[in-house]
Amino acid sequence: MRFHFFSVLCPLLLLLSGCAGCSAPAEETPPAQRQLFAMDTLMSLTVYGPQGEAAVQAAQQELSRLDGLLSRTDPDSQISQLNARAGDGTWVPLEPETAGALEFAQQTAQLLPGDFDCTIAPVMDAWGFTKQECRMPAPAQLERSLSLVDSAALLVDPSIPAARLERADMAVDLGAVAKGFAAGRAVKAVLDAGASSALLDLGRNVTVLGDGPGGPLWRVAVIDPQDAGRYLGVVAMRDQTASTSGGYERYFEQDGIRYHHIIDPKTGYPADSGLLSVTVISSDPQLADALSTALFVAGKDSALDFWRGREDFELILCSAGGTVTVTEGLEDYFQFQGDAYGYTCETARR
Ligand code: ADP
Ligand code: MG
Repeated sequence: MRFHFFSVLCPLLLLLSGCAGCSAPAEETPPAQRQLFAMDTLMSLTVYGPQGEAAVQAAQQELSRLDGLLSRTDPDSQISQLNARAGDGTWVPLEPETAGALEFAQQTAQLLPGDFDCTIAPVMDAWGFTKQECRMPAPAQLERSLSLVDSAALLVDPSIPAARLERADMAVDLGAVAKGFAAGRAVKAVLDAGASSALLDLGRNVTVLGDGPGGPLWRVAVIDPQDAGRYLGVVAMRDQTASTSGGYERYFEQDGIRYHHIIDPKTGYPADSGLLSVTVISSDPQLADALSTALFVAGKDSALDFWRGREDFELILCSAGGTVTVTEGLEDYFQFQGDAYGYTCETARR
């Protein structure tokens, strides 16, 4: 059995930042940089300008603090406290940020019922993803864990703030939204520190702020889900997040079959919608993160239908058949490079 933990092994291959072929003038202050491991991911923060050092430090502190609140595996986190008290009938008091992330996860579940559910934790455990002891669960175990997935039984009261899980053995896993939520908070920390140009790479969740080092736009690569060393293309972005979800990120193989970490809440099995990856580009980092996971489960047709009903994000979908579908808002911003690897590109219109 092989277990792949892509974000640890090669996080920076995901990204070409700044303007390719350009570099900052020699007399400018070099950017302040930090790497940290949080939310199961190696994160890399770069802030330009005279306030860079203060800003990068503030962002790092905020990310570590949120990791401490939202982690599923840290027994002291607020999510662990909430999970430990599932079914005991009491409201668990929370920091406003924890309640905010839970509320946002609940809203996403309502937007895309059947595709997204942050009470998926028992199923993640059954597959062994939580402790990185992956294996195919026995059918009875899978059935029982799936019966515990029910966002309607997660109650959040932001006015206290507090939350409760109505049934024993239920549990929350914010893995699909925590990085996006944290990215939004890290952007605020950078701006509050007086900086305005930054690249926050939270591992497949890349936020760019203000000017890039070589011009007003940043160039962010979209990885080829079939070969992490290659790119499907490059998106030119500003004040936006690119979040990618795909079955290639974390998976294990058993008897020649690959099982990945994004679960279809309807079946309890890894989502099998025909998509290899979904990249969401949005000016809202938490929306980008949540939707990349949910729309990966939903599949191409449903993802495009959902996109047609909204104005606040664009998509790059990579299908198993080798088609890369780019929504029309990215037409002038996405430079396709996948033809070199046998992919074809199409534009989706409203
Ligand atoms: P990553 O965090 O690896 O970058 P995602 O943002 O797509 O990738 O989130 C995947 C994580 O989301 C899983 O590790 C798990 O914690 C959680 N998850 C898996 N399936 C679902 C689902 N259908 N709805 C909500 N959360 C999910
Ligand atoms: Mg996500």
